[in-house]
Amino acid sequence: MGSTDLRAAGRAYLAIPGPSVMPDAVLQAMHRPSPNIYGGELKDLTESVIPDLARVARTRHNVAIYIANGHGAWEAALSNTLTPGDRVLVPASGAFAHGWAEMASGLGLEATVLDFGLHAPFDMARVAEALAADTDHSIKAVLGVHVDTSTSIRNDIAALRACLDEVGHPALLMADCIASLGCDRFEMDDWGVDVMVTACQKGLMVPAGVSFVFFNDKAAAARKALPRVSRYWDWAPRAEPEVFYQYFGGTAPTQHMFGLRAALDLIHGEGMEQVWTRHARLARAIWAACERWGDVEGEGLRLNVLDPNLRSHAVTALSLPSPNGTELRSWLEETLGLTLGISLGMAPSDSPEWHGHFRLGHMGHVNGHMILGLLGGIEAGLQALSIPHGGGALAAAAEVVAGKAG
Ligand SMILES: *Cc1c(COP(=O)(O)O)cnc(C)c1O
Repeated sequence: MGSTDLRAAGRAYLAIPGPSVMPDAVLQAMHRPSPNIYGGELKDLTESVIPDLARVARTRHNVAIYIANGHGAWEAALSNTLTPGDRVLVPASGAFAHGWAEMASGLGLEATVLDFGLHAPFDMARVAEALAADTDHSIKAVLGVHVDTSTSIRNDIAALRACLDEVGHPALLMADCIASLGCDRFEMDDWGVDVMVTACQKGLMVPAGVSFVFFNDKAAAARKALPRVSRYWDWAPRAEPEVFYQYFGGTAPTQHMFGLRAALDLIHGEGMEQVWTRHARLARAIWAACERWGDVEGEGLRLNVLDPNLRSHAVTALSLPSPNGTELRSWLEETLGLTLGISLGMAPSDSPEWHGHFRLGHMGHVNGHMILGLLGGIEAGLQALSIPHGGGALAAAAEVVAGKAG
């Protein structure tokens, strides 16, 4: 029995919160020789991608493209709007908020972090209080991570806008939608977001390497008021290029652009509303299973975020008694070719507790049978490792997928 290799055929499944699974259409679109980078097809394709990206971000404003991962987009957003000594307010519900704040500090900005821990969203009353106390408007931007991928908490970005408006604070509102875009509903213009950063390897289903900064007129005015902007990160020539190479500040990421075109065709072919409801349904199937598994005496499997309304539909952070999280991940990878995400920021990485936490990525190119396969794999792992767990998890998930529950 033990020697049967269940990974010997079929596809491996990377169920981590980015990079996400790439659709065949994206892979095929990328599998081509480099085109002429001075015009023709690539120029037309780039110009077609921009409005379709804006439709995903739900904005009629500008976008700048960078050959960089999400960290690059973080830096670009700050570099185009702020100058050393400026203050930024960073409400935090996980490691990515701290990461963006550290990047701000590295650029000579003064970052004030309001830490709401690892299980709760932003406390808007405290954000409003901090803004109201800033009577001389020394805070120039509020940096809000929409979905913090480390904790899977989803923050209410429209409510963050309301905080600024309530106290009449003029700071820019910046949102990190790297994990959430194309998974959880996000409305840049309706929610009053001035700057939004995202990257292509999560909900956008393209390999890592390209990121985006969307910005409105207010943010563009902040850029114009700066004495200087680092040449490479300057979003102005990227958003309004006079010659083609300025879109990318140099050679285009050619294969990525073909992949992105294919991914945007899939997204808009399905429709934004449908994309969001698919993610929501699949996330609820996962949570239904997790709740059953956790129904045991004593300490068992736990979802990190108790209130389903505060959970992301793109990623789920959870835990088992340590070291069962790490053991389960290893077993799944070695036995089934199924890779789950490691913990980020839930416990120090050299502590025993770290080995309890793990994450499931369910962003982008995911469907019902993939999620049921993911959950079936976890069920098998819990059995194989004799990790105490409640029964009925797969039946509960199937009910959600079938549309009969949740
Ligand atoms: C993945 C992620 C990042 C970092 O993106 P990289 O491409 O790894 O640099 C930042 N913020 C959030 C919310 C993320 O999910």
